[in-house]
Amino acid sequence: MKKIIDLRSDTVTQPTPDMREAMARAEVGDDVYGEDPTINQLEALGAEMAGKEAAVFVPTGTMGNQVSIMAWTDRGDEIIVESNAHIFMYEAGGPAVLSGVQVRTVPGTRGAMDPDDVKAAIREDDLHCPRTSLICMENTHNRSGGCVLPLDNMKAVYELAKEEGIAVHLDGARVFNAAAALGVDVKQITQYTDSVQFCLSKGLCAPVGSLVAGPKEFIEKARRCRKILGGGMRQAGILAAAGIVALEKMTKRLAEDHEKARKLAQGLSGIPGLDIDMSTVQSNMVLVGTKGTGMDASGFASLMKSHRLLFNPSTQYKVRMVTHNDVGFDDIDEAIRRVKEALSA
Ligand SMILES: *Cc1c(COP(=O)(O)O)cnc(C)c1O
Repeated sequence: MKKIIDLRSDTVTQPTPDMREAMARAEVGDDVYGEDPTINQLEALGAEMAGKEAAVFVPTGTMGNQVSIMAWTDRGDEIIVESNAHIFMYEAGGPAVLSGVQVRTVPGTRGAMDPDDVKAAIREDDLHCPRTSLICMENTHNRSGGCVLPLDNMKAVYELAKEEGIAVHLDGARVFNAAAALGVDVKQITQYTDSVQFCLSKGLCAPVGSLVAGPKEFIEKARRCRKILGGGMRQAGILAAAGIVALEKMTKRLAEDHEKARKLAQGLSGIPGLDIDMSTVQSNMVLVGTKGTGMDASGFASLMKSHRLLFNPSTQYKVRMVTHNDVGFDDIDEAIRRVKEALSA
């Protein structure tokens, strides 16, 4: 039986041996009382790395975004997000359900909103209108295939928000991938946001968890919102121990995943019927157009599943492949071989 090569997402990564060891040894306490030393250490480390005053550990990236929205807004407010943002597409209507805010979308180019469009979407001070209280960006941008927001775009949106007195949140589920792709310290990115959420559980390989970082007062509110959502955990230092390994070690190896994605994209782009825009291959994802094969995305994905190569459809005629720590360069070669074989059969 051929080995399964799983390119569905970097969320499928297994915790590393270092992580399991750190988890076994972790000193823990009741984190709702603030008494888990390992959680406290992870939160301090995350805040420092993001260049923010404080941080709070949450079970998922989705909860990280939702507590951030809840902490920055009042009911009846409006938040601005890019039209393919995870917050808008994949968080089950959370902003409406949990925070009572409505979402206004602004179209983006590879995830980047034009600051003029953002400006035009900000509500005027009028009692008929909702109040715009938050602007969200996403970096790397998931739906565009892991594209990296240009720093000057983030800066322009952030400066505009500050002029208008509006808070900015970054959905930085993969912000360390963005930093690796740009070759900058992550603070170069997070300087252009008030709060940031980042996932420890994706390319960084921790089994569970995200951090929200931001100003002290905001983090206190976010901690309360986390409690409302049922995310106040007890001896969660077991999880935080893996998160510390994720931040200290695994952030340093993400460039390797990007190299694998480029290798995969180059290999697949030579195959008749497949269509890849190499300029969008910027981090650990590859979007592959399938129209030329005569199959739609789900048809192509199920064909390749029968060859034990896994990936998900993204749109009707595009599949998404994601590289990560648990696929090696040799697996990438093998994946390209299997696609070639399947399509020439
Ligand atoms: C994965 C992801 C999230 C949500 O993280 P979960 O831990 O799966 O809830 C949020 N935003 C983006 C951009 C993501 O890719």
